[in-house]
Amino acid sequence: MSAVEYETVIGLEIHVQLATVTKMFCGCTLSFGDPPNTHTCPVCLGLPGALPVTNAEAIHYGLMMGMALGSELAPRSIFHRKNYFYPDSPKAYQISQYDEPLCLGGRLGDVRIHRVHLEEDAAKLVHIGASGRLHASDASVVDFNRCGTPLAEIVTEPDLRDATAAAEWLRMLRATLRSLGVSDVNMEEGSLRCDANISIRPVGNSELGTKTELKNMNSFRFIERGIRAEVARQTAIVREGGRVEQETLHFDPRTEAITSLRSKEEAHDYRYFPEPDLTPVAITQAMLDRAAAALPELPLARAERFERDLGLSPDAAHLLAFRTELGDYFEAAVAADGAQPQPLANWVSNELVPRIGADADPAESKVEPAALAKLVSMIDANAVTGAGARQVLDKLVAEGGDPAAIVEAEGLGAVGGADSLGPVVEAALAANPDVAEKLRGGDMKPIGVIVGYVMKETRGRADGKEITKLVRQQLGL
Ligand code: ADP
Ligand code: MG
Ligand code: ZN
Repeated sequence: MSAVEYETVIGLEIHVQLATVTKMFCGCTLSFGDPPNTHTCPVCLGLPGALPVTNAEAIHYGLMMGMALGSELAPRSIFHRKNYFYPDSPKAYQISQYDEPLCLGGRLGDVRIHRVHLEEDAAKLVHIGASGRLHASDASVVDFNRCGTPLAEIVTEPDLRDATAAAEWLRMLRATLRSLGVSDVNMEEGSLRCDANISIRPVGNSELGTKTELKNMNSFRFIERGIRAEVARQTAIVREGGRVEQETLHFDPRTEAITSLRSKEEAHDYRYFPEPDLTPVAITQAMLDRAAAALPELPLARAERFERDLGLSPDAAHLLAFRTELGDYFEAAVAADGAQPQPLANWVSNELVPRIGADADPAESKVEPAALAKLVSMIDANAVTGAGARQVLDKLVAEGGDPAAIVEAEGLGAVGGADSLGPVVEAALAANPDVAEKLRGGDMKPIGVIVGYVMKETRGRADGKEITKLVRQQLGL
């Protein structure tokens, strides 16, 4: 008897806070980190009689997103009331879109988009009292600044097959949204939030298994770990002959524990009905033209251009195109100097990024794009070795400045040519007679000892190929 193999199926629901100036249905400004309850009005506080008005800029951003994802843009869409009570939602309903959303279908990479709709965010509950147990003095208070923030909800088809792919795809979506400029897409601050719907099924089955929903994961790492933990949980249940129950779950990244928040709600639980206080959204040609004109080059297209026009490897092109700020920096460097794009790309991703931190924006570092380009050109021209250039870059990261001046001031220029390097190679061979003997006998393996000696003597300023050439010359090989 062979054990049944299971396949994972994942669909994502992503909430994106839109970076409009004002809220979705009122004139309050959006804020992050301002004192609580300083951006409120009768509409977003849900006071009786207050009337919402749809934010045209949010519709504009929604259209840009739909275009970027290749969705069909509904000529007419409407808002619904989604009724439920929660202390962060004073109206006891959320204005959302139901069966007539703004954008239908689409695709990003290998994943099909089911729909994109607009809605409003809830307020923020802040739990006071860090005791961990409930005390009479503990309380939850509400900050309404976030209430009514425009949200776009992007729903994918269940096309993802594992945790890594889900996180990878989400990175791609984030880069796309960032390049559109429609959101800050900051997961820690909650402007990008992701729910993962997860099921398993025997490999070869085309029917979907019962899914659970992991709510509100706020980092790429947690998403991967959360999905893995949930797949393990479901697999264990099924292998023991049990059945997965459809429910909404919370993943605690600290303990890896998965706990049930609620059994799955159905659409009819929400008593959706059309929002009577809002007019339908009717898309005009002018609105479509404006959204199309606002579209930037999207990351996928940019990656293709980097490969096609600049000859970058697919990996390098992808990395730079999907990290918008790295791509912008790289392009500025390419424009500044005649450095070769591929080595420049390598220096951006392998040398600069580790020095400034994986998530830092290089534009905010002290290293001007033109300075990095010049440094890479200097390596190409043998004016400085790779090892020397790394020292120059250390200095540039710390203080900024001009690489040629640093090379000059620090004496980091390449030591090349038989005149300056020859005596050092000679000394290296003299200091290691046994190695010299082996080399003479045709065993080139220990040449590293000589190269290491010369590099040490020249503080990394010699070129490895040049050293090898001189060794061969001096030994008459
Ligand atoms: P619901 O009505 O429960 O909200 P939807 O059909 O709207 O479910 O789908 C919500 C999300 O769950 C979508 O991203 C969809 O791709 C995903 N999904 C649906 N069924 C499954 C399943 N069996 N396994 C994994 N993901 C699923
Ligand atoms: Mg749903
Ligand atoms: Zn308001």
